[in-house]
Amino acid sequence: MLPTILSRFLRPHWPLLVAVVAFQLVQSMASLYLPTLNADIIDNGVATGDTGYIMGVGGLMLLITLVQVAAAIAAVYFGAKAAMRVGRDIRSSVFHHVNEFSEREVSQFGAPSLITRTTNDVQQVQILVLMTCTMLVSAPILAVGGVVMALQQDVNLSWLLAVSVPVLLVAVGGIIIRTVPLFRKMQVRIDTVNRVLREQISGIRVVRAFVREDRETQRFAVANDELTDTALRVGRLMALMFPVVMLVLNVTSVAVLWFGASQIDAGTMEVGALTAFLSYIMQILMAVMMATFMAILIPRAAVCADRIHEVLATETSVRPPANPVSDFDTSGEIDFRDVEFSYPGAEKPVLSDIDFTVAPGSTTAIIGSTGSGKTTLVHLLPRLFDATKGRVVVDGVAVADADPDALWARIGLVPQKPYLFTGTVESNLRYGRPDASEEELWQALETAQAADFVRAMPDGLDAPISQGGTNVSGGQRQRLAIARALVKKPQIYIFDDSFSALDLSTDARLRAALRKDVGDATLVIVAQRVSTIVDADQILVLEDGRIVGRGTHEELLEGNETYKEIVESQLTAEEAA
Ligand code: ADP
Repeated sequence: MLPTILSRFLRPHWPLLVAVVAFQLVQSMASLYLPTLNADIIDNGVATGDTGYIMGVGGLMLLITLVQVAAAIAAVYFGAKAAMRVGRDIRSSVFHHVNEFSEREVSQFGAPSLITRTTNDVQQVQILVLMTCTMLVSAPILAVGGVVMALQQDVNLSWLLAVSVPVLLVAVGGIIIRTVPLFRKMQVRIDTVNRVLREQISGIRVVRAFVREDRETQRFAVANDELTDTALRVGRLMALMFPVVMLVLNVTSVAVLWFGASQIDAGTMEVGALTAFLSYIMQILMAVMMATFMAILIPRAAVCADRIHEVLATETSVRPPANPVSDFDTSGEIDFRDVEFSYPGAEKPVLSDIDFTVAPGSTTAIIGSTGSGKTTLVHLLPRLFDATKGRVVVDGVAVADADPDALWARIGLVPQKPYLFTGTVESNLRYGRPDASEEELWQALETAQAADFVRAMPDGLDAPISQGGTNVSGGQRQRLAIARALVKKPQIYIFDDSFSALDLSTDARLRAALRKDVGDATLVIVAQRVSTIVDADQILVLEDGRIVGRGTHEELLEGNETYKEIVESQLTAEEAA
């Protein structure tokens, strides 16, 4: 997948690449020309004692060197620019693509792996682009051009090339072949370290509460040691590389001098030609080494490109409609028509034959035991998942046909585990409607029974909220999330077990204020506690993913066994308390 990724992301930056190639050409040509000029000075200038000639050719060499330096700087500059832009573009593509994923795809990859893919993997590809830009053009020119120029100097020593180049290739190639599988392993191990670390940081309270620090430390140590072990093995092989290359280079120069000296002694070769030949052979060996070095980067970048491509090639399972409808009624009506839903890979559906209507402006409660499918059901409304059968219709438009932004704009979802963003109380409240007035924010806080504790915070609305909302209590987080939904003023509110962390009297006050505040909006309330939902216009009793009862509290008490059981179990619990 490396060529696919590279061609896709390099193409927009072709002018930079053209500049890189041009400057590298200039630089390599200069490198190839300089030793010949040097030989010229020695053989024709120094030998005859012609100072003018020496100064002239020397001046030319100086000029060429200046051009070479400028070209080298320019090549690296444009190369770095191209590489950084490619990195930026890949990261941005992956980020935007992941943003379209539904929960299904995110859990398929896992958040830590998605993060590694967007950061570390992209970086490896970026390094490859950078190195390619600095070496790809100059290495072959120096190698081939070096051979041509060296042959021009003296053919008698050329057999040295035929020996040292293969020796270098075998030595460096042998080291590289052994490192490639290690690099593959390393990428997987980086993923593992990230995963373990993330799990432990997110679950740190649980780890402490269950006194599992030693075991977790142990688990991290294993992952960390494995990564270190692989990195060390790579390091050892790489450390071997430099001495091996230097050995070949030095033995070659000794050989050139040895055999060259005897030729000079015999008068078949000039001193200048020998120095030029030595320079060329060094250039050739350096080029071969650079090329083999590239060979290390390619497999690692290829593994990374595969992982990036995997993300980019994954289509979201909640596909946006081809002709999105954004023309809704404004009532807030919800209609589930024979809906069935199965999680991917699950044997049986978690929801079946779900068929109900929520009248505009009414309150519908959904009650049922844990695992009965309540959360799954409400997640179908904002299309976090698509129903596997049947239709979910909001305000006359099937959610699958609706323009996602228009659909989400009319739904305010307070999830079971609300998430607050890094910022302040105020920035979180304004999340759904940035232009809300301060008065509206306080109004929402009052309704959500959150005004008191926000007022008590040292900075009030400006009080800082840490990532995820971990610096406020669970109940406070829930109430801030409720206020956030209220500020948005949607047509339909969904409260997924949002009142469970509240005590009974706060729960009662919140519900009383809520109905007044939301006006004619539609409320869908998922609840565990019967007391939360006694006033609802319609209660749906869910059991094993099916609706086993519907009606008002009184109606259900009369004729529904499951509902009666729930009520009785809670009454007994309260009486016992
Ligand atoms: P409730 O909200 O009533 O507690 P849920 O809707 O959360 O119930 O879950 C209903 C069933 O679906 C449970 O049996 C649960 O194991 C299963 N389930 C929930 N989320 C997933 C998921 N992401 N993948 C597979 N199964 C799931």
